[in-house]
Amino acid sequence: MSGKLYLCPTPIGNLKDITLRTLECLQSVDLIAAEDTRVSMKLLTHFGIQAPITSYYEHNKREKGHYLLEKLKDGVTIAVITDAGMPGISDPGEDLVRMCIKEGIPVESLPGPCAFATALVASGLPTGRFAFEGFLTVNKKNRLEHLHALKTDPRTLIFYEAPHKLRSTLKDMLEVFGDRSVVLARELTKKYEEYRRTTLSEALYYYEETPPKGEFVILLAGADTEEIRASQLADLPSAEELIRAYANEGMRAKELTSRVAEELKQPRREIYDLYLKMKETL
Ligand code: SAM
Repeated sequence: MSGKLYLCPTPIGNLKDITLRTLECLQSVDLIAAEDTRVSMKLLTHFGIQAPITSYYEHNKREKGHYLLEKLKDGVTIAVITDAGMPGISDPGEDLVRMCIKEGIPVESLPGPCAFATALVASGLPTGRFAFEGFLTVNKKNRLEHLHALKTDPRTLIFYEAPHKLRSTLKDMLEVFGDRSVVLARELTKKYEEYRRTTLSEALYYYEETPPKGEFVILLAGADTEEIRASQLADLPSAEELIRAYANEGMRAKELTSRVAEELKQPRREIYDLYLKMKETL
């Protein structure tokens, strides 16, 4: 009989945010796999949890993942915890989950603290559709490419960022997205929790004056769909240009009208009327 993998979220600041289920789980598993054992020992000691603990982090996840998998196959129950929040969200856990699923080992995810979900629901930005983008890479070219790929995304965009990189990230965002609305959610669940609901240029101005401190979630308003449509239309050739180009190719009125109407997403009747007006000059 195989064991089971439990994904246990831990507080992102306020220790009272640990759930009863997580405590019960951590008390009853055979082994706890923690991202940083020193950080997690403080939490476990606080709650009087004494299960054996082992490390499982970004740079040992390959070998350690196989070791944990063998233990699970032998019937051991393992809880994965990280320094804060939900395992697998910009934190270790994802690979181990995949390995377990492949081997038919049960995986149970316990709900609990997660910085981006906490920030999103209080941001005031649309919550119906959002994209969690995690940390941007430090490589400037790749970072800008990543941002450019999101330029016309209408969903609320969510990023994690370290305080020392916040200013350069805001600068890049301003360059790519223009002066959009942004929410900076800082130090969530902690004493100096703060939501700064502002624009990219104002946020940049503020943090050039005030060095950013603490942990941040950046929530950026999605692209305005009206604006996208307008810029797409501006990029399209005009109906007159298309009619002239197709007429020069020798296209007949019926086909020409259908093609232009289809390409510009405009009613055929309007294109045909325009064609008739231009006919003498074609
Ligand atoms: N697994 C975690 C979760 O579920 O949110 C995220 C871990 S990731 C390594 C750490 C990042 O999460 C921080 O750099 C910051 O962007 C965000 N974060 C974590 N705790 C936070 C807090 N209390 N307030 C604001 N952001 C936080």
